[in-house]
Amino acid sequence: MEWENTPLSDNVEDRRGGGGLGGLGGSGGLGLGTILILTVIGYFTGIDPRMLIGGAEVVSDMRSPAPQSQAATPGVDDKLKLFVRHVLGETEAVWADVLPAQTGVAYRPATLVLYDGATQSGCGGAQAAMGPFYCPLDKKVYLDLSFFRDMETKYGGGGDFADAYVIAHEVGHHVQDLLGILDKTDAAKENASRTQANAISVRVELMADCLAGVWAANANQKWKLLDPGDVEKAVATAGAIGDDRLQTAARGYAVPDSFTHGSSAMRVKWLTAGLQSGKVDSCDTFKQ
Ligand SMILES: [Zn+2]
Repeated sequence: MEWENTPLSDNVEDRRGGGGLGGLGGSGGLGLGTILILTVIGYFTGIDPRMLIGGAEVVSDMRSPAPQSQAATPGVDDKLKLFVRHVLGETEAVWADVLPAQTGVAYRPATLVLYDGATQSGCGGAQAAMGPFYCPLDKKVYLDLSFFRDMETKYGGGGDFADAYVIAHEVGHHVQDLLGILDKTDAAKENASRTQANAISVRVELMADCLAGVWAANANQKWKLLDPGDVEKAVATAGAIGDDRLQTAARGYAVPDSFTHGSSAMRVKWLTAGLQSGKVDSCDTFKQ
């Protein structure tokens, strides 16, 4: 992946080197919606967490505001931080064009919080074992860089595009939020059975995968950043990590026991849909 000459985001909040713990949150906010159908949702309702591509994501809904400490930690992670700023900048540039053009909705950038171990999010406590996640209440993506290291050292996968894809997936949840989808899916899950709510969560996740594909397609058009094999590697890595991360989360934290996430095949399918079309409206995971 070629990323050195892409836009650099200023919306990275670096909390590494000092961080507070927070209580784990309960349920949170993903939703579906907008461009995508809102139909099916009617009879679904909710639970909470959701997963993702590359890890378990937990979105909780506690309201404590996140601390704003800024602690930069020099060291080996600096290059990774630079990479994260570039990828976030790429998502900002792409969505600033694509979202209004395709949906009529203006894009407002999300903040990406880098932390070590644990920190407080607008959705409750964030812990590295949760994997990266997006909190709709404070519009921030939470990322412990150890997640990327684990992808490479523990799972033999990873790579820069796989890392970028994880970020783009989380930003995809932010896009869902801006489109009003997360509010709708949350509402739908409120009165749904657990099984139905899980099904909604899976569709929300697959949609985020597709939106990451939309980002990648448009970013590749702008900057030619994809190298051969990047996509396949990202998808393979994400699938492997998802299950393991989930188990860890289920064992150690208050994560609802029975939610499922899309299979690797489904993830590949939706990522591919976004990649091939470059269009938000190709990501309607609630249509089928
Ligand atoms: Zn996700």
